Amino acid sequence: MYNAKAYSVAGATSPFAATTIKRRDPTPHDVQIEILFCGICHSDLHTARNEWSSVMPTVFPCVPGHEIVGRVTKVGSAVTRFGSGDLAGVGCLVDSDGTCPECRASLEQFCPNGTLTYNARDKHLGGVTYGGYSDSVVVDERFVVRVPSNLDLAGAAPLLCAGITTYSPMRHWGITKGKKVGVVGLGGLGHMGVKFAHALGAHVVAFTTSPRKKEDALRLGADEVVISRSADEMRKHAGSFDFILDAVSADHDINAYVHLLRRDGNITLVGAPEKPLAVSAFGLLLGRRSLSGSPIGGIRETQEMLDFCSTHGITADVEVIPIQKVNEAYQRLLKSDVKYRFSIDMASLKSP
Ligand code: NAP
Ligand code: ZN
Repeated sequence: MYNAKAYSVAGATSPFAATTIKRRDPTPHDVQIEILFCGICHSDLHTARNEWSSVMPTVFPCVPGHEIVGRVTKVGSAVTRFGSGDLAGVGCLVDSDGTCPECRASLEQFCPNGTLTYNARDKHLGGVTYGGYSDSVVVDERFVVRVPSNLDLAGAAPLLCAGITTYSPMRHWGITKGKKVGVVGLGGLGHMGVKFAHALGAHVVAFTTSPRKKEDALRLGADEVVISRSADEMRKHAGSFDFILDAVSADHDINAYVHLLRRDGNITLVGAPEKPLAVSAFGLLLGRRSLSGSPIGGIRETQEMLDFCSTHGITADVEVIPIQKVNEAYQRLLKSDVKYRFSIDMASLKSP
């Protein structure tokens, strides 16, 4: 074991503060990574504030962070795919059983015995896993992906969660040229959803509650932008969408979007608000529409997504911050005031 520097919260209403955590020495299958950048996902905020207590209560102290890019500093004796100095990425998962039907199908996100990057049982050290708001992490090589060298690293970090979480359902629902796709909520996930839908050739409509984001949405790849608080603007799109990705972090009226789907259209929730959403049965059954959810993505698909980003020159639009500004960043995230992802420059953890 060794000591790593990190930022943690001590309780649901506590601010982040500097701390020291234990990391395991690399086992034969492990890769040790010096973390260079870590994105701030709204899931980090939900967890730090224990907003998901009914589904996955937070164990404090908590070190969030599952959008990790860094450089390999050490590899175990059995590691074959990585060597010291390689660029590496780690997302929301750090382990799974590897034997269940989901793992055999490269869908580790559905493994009943998966281990999340933070706030999950740590099989090696006991206690809970600690995430990427830290200077280093040790991860089984099966859960480490290659970060293409042409990607800006600060902007690549958010691909490990916001990227895969929006890419995966779009691939699953067959988004291609000729499809009309809506993306609801222009935050970390939503702005990646717009980029991917555009790169896949769809006609993209961004829905936002923030009129100030309109110009950006067009620049990010939206063909149209709808200010969702305007009933008139919403009505113009009734019954017209093949697919809508809902990436909203808070309570909102999902029925307004169900009505925008065409026959057999699908709306997929990737946003995970604290409280249940009310869904009108009629909205779904008139039109045989469907409502789905989608969690992150498997490791193979995460690598595919990174390679897609490399080919298409896609990274997240980031505001790079030192870790000392993490409390301020959380306040801004709560106000939907970030363009469009905070990426923590972990070099700042070296300074006092
Ligand atoms: P984020 O950056 O905070 O973006 C959320 C966006 O939702 C905001 O930018 C805002 O967009 C919109 N929004 C916020 N409050 C709203 C309200 N009261 N009514 C309507 N719209 C509102 O968050 P994120 O990191 O993208 O995460 C979004 C959600 O996805 C979170 O719940 C997160 O936990 C979840 N998530 C799920 C997965 C998964 O595996 N499914 C993975 C990662 C994250 P506008 O300003 O454009 O309206
Ligand atoms: Zn996330």
